Formats: sequence, C-alpha cells, structure tokens
Amino acid sequence: MRTLRLSLVVFILTLCGYAIGSAADSKSLSIYCIDVEGGQATLFVTPNGESLLVDTGWDGNNGRDADRIVAAAKDAGLQKIDYVLITHYHRDHVGGVTQLAERFPIGTFLDHGENREPDNENTKMGWNAYQKLLASGIYKRISTKPGDVLPIRDAKFTIATSDGKLLEKPVQGAGAQNQNCQEVKQPPADHTENEFSQGFVMEFGKFRLLDLGDIPFVEEVALSCPVNKIGKIDFFIATHHGLFFSNSPALVHGVAPRVALMENGAKKGGSPAAWDIIKRSPGLEALYQLHWSEEGEAAHNSPSEFLANLDGPDTGNYFKITANPDGNFSVWNSRTGKTNSYPAH
Ligand SMILES: [Zn+2]
Repeated sequence: MRTLRLSLVVFILTLCGYAIGSAADSKSLSIYCIDVEGGQATLFVTPNGESLLVDTGWDGNNGRDADRIVAAAKDAGLQKIDYVLITHYHRDHVGGVTQLAERFPIGTFLDHGENREPDNENTKMGWNAYQKLLASGIYKRISTKPGDVLPIRDAKFTIATSDGKLLEKPVQGAGAQNQNCQEVKQPPADHTENEFSQGFVMEFGKFRLLDLGDIPFVEEVALSCPVNKIGKIDFFIATHHGLFFSNSPALVHGVAPRVALMENGAKKGGSPAAWDIIKRSPGLEALYQLHWSEEGEAAHNSPSEFLANLDGPDTGNYFKITANPDGNFSVWNSRTGKTNSYPAH
C-alpha cells in the first residue's frame, strides 16, 4: 500500500513538473541553426509548436544534412515540419529536399516561384528534384511576394525579398533614413538564383531577426537605402553564408544587429571582408559562426566559444537560439554546452 501511495505521489509530482516545464518552455521561440557545411538549414519552432524550416541543406552524403535536420526537429519535439521555406534553388539550399521528405513529414512548401537559372545544370538538378516532390501531390505549395505575411500564428514572418522583387514599403515600425548609405566598393554583380532569394524579417514580440538567404550586395543596398525598410534587428543571419558577395555595410550597419551568425562551412563563407563589415557593425555584441573559416585565419574568426565547429574533422555541431517576447534571447552551443544570454534592452 505504502509503495503504491509513494508511486502515486511520484507520478503526480512528475506530472506537475512536466506541466511547469512545458509552461515555461511554451513562452519561447526556438531557432536551430543546423550545420550543413556551407549550405542553409534553419529551423524555427514557435511556442505552440508550429514549425518553419528555412532550406534543406545539400543533397548526397547519404542524407547527412537531412539527418541533421531530423535530429533538430526531434529535439524540438516535432512530428511534422509545417512549412519548408526554400530561399532559392541552389543545391546548398534545396538539395536535401528529397532526402528530408523521405525521412520526415512536411506540410507546405514556400518558394519564390520559377527557377530563374534554367540553363545551369546544377541548379536544374535541385529544381527538378523539388518539382518531382511537388508533383507527388502530397504537399501544399505557396509562392510568395514581398510584403506577404506567412500564416503562422505566434511569430510574424514578413517576406522582404522574393523572385528579384523587394519590399515596396518599410515593415511596420521601420522606415527611418539610413545613415550608412555611402558608396563603397562593390563585389562583382551576381545574377544567379541568389538574386531571387526569398528573405524575411521575423518578429516574435520584441525580438526581431533578419534572414535574406543569399541575396547579393546590390539588393541589400536597395532594401536599406536611402530608407531602411527593415528597421533595427536583434539577430542577423549573415547573408549568403557570410560571403563577400553580400553583407553590405549599408544593410548590416543600418539594421545594426545585437548578434550576428554566419551559417558558413570550413571552406565556404566567412569571407574576411564580410567578417570585418559585420564585426564593425555599431552595437554588435557577438558574431557566431557555424564553422571556423579557413579563409578567415586567426584574424577573421571569432573566439572558439562563438564557433560551433572548430578547425578539424566535421562534428556537425549547431546553435540553438531561444527568444522571448520581451526581447531577451540566448544562444546555446551544442559543442560546448554553454549558453550566452542577451537580456532585453
Ligand atoms: Zn547558399
């Protein structure tokens, strides 16, 4: 009898603990910046469990990137990824889509429309695989335009760029003159699929995040000059893996992120020129990188506590960001197990 009563007490305590735990968790938004070796895969999970994955990493490698995405989705307790937003049709973004669909249920795809690089064999491969998946009839598909707000309840995702078009009007609360529009030396023009990337501003209470996929420098400037249509940002996913083709001072210094994160690989992204621009950004508190950048060497890499993967064999470590409606957020590094917190301003 006594054992039974004790078990009952333990059971009730466990239930209470579970309830308290979920109530605390349920107020925050989680963002997983998954290591896909210089591609993109960023998973957002809202307090009520709605989910949006930005891109699916590369194809090949026995489903390495899809496996990493599934691991993050399971860590978040998901049964299904509600939305998969394909920024554009390069293989480091859409490549892993088939392998992911084989491994995990997906609801709706969001994309920028047609493949705008139909003569490039590599791009065509990614596009064709995606078309084949859509033809199965299992999934919904929405092609977006700038200004669209995604049908997600707890977080506001506003499309800022899509199919080569940009927001016409500033997002609510933005629209100030940008003091960072001085002419600077520009990188070579980029008229590949990058130019058509779907990018967005995500607002969760006071917390604001910007992710523009791989859009080139010129479009970043057009989006932020002379008027800054985005406003100030707490968290910046560095454009185009932190490559020097993007990350213009006009945009980066205009949106003035508190924290920036490069989704780079050891040999892709993390260009010294872009690293310097981000590092100089006014008010920047930290610059995270998914990888040590070989190109950056010691002078253009953040200290190791801000790196998920160090120089050496690939370990697939990731960052998990937890954001709260009052604007406070934290960044957890799966390699070190340590969390850095950024209290609300
Ligand atoms: Zn890319």
